Amino acid sequence: MFSLIKLRRVFTVHQVPKAFHEDSIISGYRHPRSSATDCVLSLFQLTNETLNVWTHFLPTWYFLWKLMTVLLMEDALYDAFTWPLLVFLFSCCVYPLASSCAHTFSTMSTCARHICYFFDYGALSLYSLGKRGTHSTETDVIINEHKNVFLSLSVRFSERQSPRLSKVLRILAFAYPYLFDNIPLFYRLFLCVGEGCTDNEANSIHVHHTLFAFLTGFLFATHLPERLAPGRFDYIGHSHQLFHVCAIIGTHFQMKAIESDMVLRQSQLLVTAPPITFNNTVGSSLVCVCISLGIICLYSLPLLYGSSETHPASAKGKKCKH
Ligand SMILES: [Zn+2]
Repeated sequence: MFSLIKLRRVFTVHQVPKAFHEDSIISGYRHPRSSATDCVLSLFQLTNETLNVWTHFLPTWYFLWKLMTVLLMEDALYDAFTWPLLVFLFSCCVYPLASSCAHTFSTMSTCARHICYFFDYGALSLYSLGKRGTHSTETDVIINEHKNVFLSLSVRFSERQSPRLSKVLRILAFAYPYLFDNIPLFYRLFLCVGEGCTDNEANSIHVHHTLFAFLTGFLFATHLPERLAPGRFDYIGHSHQLFHVCAIIGTHFQMKAIESDMVLRQSQLLVTAPPITFNNTVGSSLVCVCISLGIICLYSLPLLYGSSETHPASAKGKKCKH
């Protein structure tokens, strides 16, 4: 197959602009001005991004299959109890798809790279909304999600000035809502004892999901293993690939845990949980998708029409439109 595709040259870290540098990754960079076709073809060539794309593109189809199964087999549209699961599964399809697209097209230009990751972070924020279920009011949910979006997008801007600060802020942007949202779950799993506690088979699946969530955060924050041996894991085994795999496995366990709880706790939840309405499930998600797209446009337009291109080879002040 490779004989049919003209393999593009890959570059070292010293041959691409700073905006494209990845911590402790020395080689395997695609051309920083790749065409869209080159980006797609590069998925069939081993570069330092190839597995980043496939580790999220393939799971997208798995979650899409789960979503279709729930939609078609369980008459979910008429059963409000399954709406939070539908929203969650939809977000599980969107975030890996957005991520794989971002990794695919991020080398078209510096500007494209930033816009690609705006969509990636927007999709992650939708996922963080999807997993909140119906614990919050619509307003809480929207505020929480857009705090994430604003912070993530702002962080992309500061990346050029202070990559380290940008990294810390990005970790906080996702770690803080994750920890805050999961306080009830952590209490249930690790602190609650005796009468009134929920202790069922879903607990062990929640523990698996929690472990993978922490492992995902650890890999993102530490850049291990490539930080220990820069250049050794450029193509296979670097932290971002492992981060993707752990995120997907964690999401899989999370989905299984939610499905288990829905079966095991249905009677209890129908009595004690806030009522499930179109507004606090599907409606909130649709509003969030629209607001997220608006915010992404707001941040992208200055990049597209302003003087923000940072390619060292290009003149300062050149527009980011190519
Ligand atoms: Zn990624």
